[in-house]
Amino acid sequence: MIAEPYRIKVVEPLKITNREEREEILKNAGYNVMLIKAEDVYIDLLTDSGTSAMSQNQWAGLMVGDESYAGCRNFYHLEKTVKEVLGFKYFVPTHQGRPAENILFRIKVKKGDYVPNNMHFDTTGAHVLDKGGIPVNLVIDEAYDPQALHPFKGNMDVKKLRDLIKKVGPEKIPLVMITITNNTGGGEPVSMENIKEVKKITEEYGIPLFFDAARFAENAYFIKKREKGYENKSVAEIVREMMGYADGCTMSCKKDGLVNIGGLLAMNDKELFEKVKQHLILLEGFPTYGGLAGRDLEALSVGLREVLDENYLEWRVGQVKYLGNKLKEEGVPIMEPVGGHAVYIDLKRFLPHIPQSQFPDNAFTAALYLEGGIRAAALGSTAFARKDEKTGEIIYPKLELVRLTIPRRVYTNSHMDVVANTVIKLYKNRDKIRGLKIVYEAPVLRHFTVRFEPL
Ligand SMILES: *Cc1c(COP(=O)(O)O)cnc(C)c1O
Repeated sequence: MIAEPYRIKVVEPLKITNREEREEILKNAGYNVMLIKAEDVYIDLLTDSGTSAMSQNQWAGLMVGDESYAGCRNFYHLEKTVKEVLGFKYFVPTHQGRPAENILFRIKVKKGDYVPNNMHFDTTGAHVLDKGGIPVNLVIDEAYDPQALHPFKGNMDVKKLRDLIKKVGPEKIPLVMITITNNTGGGEPVSMENIKEVKKITEEYGIPLFFDAARFAENAYFIKKREKGYENKSVAEIVREMMGYADGCTMSCKKDGLVNIGGLLAMNDKELFEKVKQHLILLEGFPTYGGLAGRDLEALSVGLREVLDENYLEWRVGQVKYLGNKLKEEGVPIMEPVGGHAVYIDLKRFLPHIPQSQFPDNAFTAALYLEGGIRAAALGSTAFARKDEKTGEIIYPKLELVRLTIPRRVYTNSHMDVVANTVIKLYKNRDKIRGLKIVYEAPVLRHFTVRFEPL
């Protein structure tokens, strides 16, 4: 393991609150940590999206931002970077990942079409539905078992893919997607072998293959470390090989792009590119800025290369694993193997005394904030329980998880020690954590604004 391969030049002071203050803050926020001001959080592990620390070269890049409406120099730099790092012929910038999904699916997906993915991220699934399509998750079964050990737990089940194509017909499948790494399934990687197998099938049926590539570098790093034949290849080479099997990708650059805002849609098909530009102009802006400022494009050009640094990746993936190992050593039930960007806590085993109707995921995030001023993401019944339209019965999700998501280059391992010690303390006193009841909920996407009271 290596220590942080950088030194700190600028710091953002953090406010440290006491328990009494946090009690008050939590109560005012309806026990929903999403409603707490970020300033009142000591260590914020809500998401790794847009939360990276930029490097000195990225900050310097902001100064050479060319804010011309058309043809800014930063676009041409980014174009060169995308060609060299990812290898696709054409691309447009977007302001984050979801507009890239929106534009791709607007063009490709018709009512009644199926879009397979290993696991759709929530915005990709929602954009498929928005176009009248049906998102299908075809990840291997191991992904649904938090304790199943598999080096590439994000793999697509190729038999499930063949079966779906046979069942609905290839003409009903406008594209196949693979999410690298599989965010919704714990940030687990996809192997090169699996990518090749999927490519073979899609080629056979003439279906384009796209990656949802938010964490492409972390995925490539796992291939280098875990897949035979790749140990001596560079991450940059592995990325090129991976991308070489795809016809294009959508990317939220707020993750492995190491920027605070940005996205892209890349492809090899010229005809598709022409259509993409029309939609882009309508939704995001002129194709040489795509909803971003010139300076943002510059920071992204730098970030897309920096993320390939293998010392960085070793430290980055190592830090997530460091936290995971500390928790595991003390018996805290976590999802295994630990993925690339987060440690997931399995609440079904952590808080078995709280039924899903009492929101164990949120009970945990509230307790974690109260105990240590730490914020995590509740990804269980709070976000995913839904009412059956016909019976009115509440259907609870299979997995009840909390995600401790690690921002890139932001926290040190001393912060990770504090997080680990706080979670371990909660685990030792888990019997004292109580369930919650809802006192307010919005009709859609309730987890963002829901308010609770302790039972
Ligand atoms: C974050 C993310 C997205 C959506 O990107 P935004 O930048 O949040 O719009 C899509 N897919 C995956 C896998 C993601 O992690």
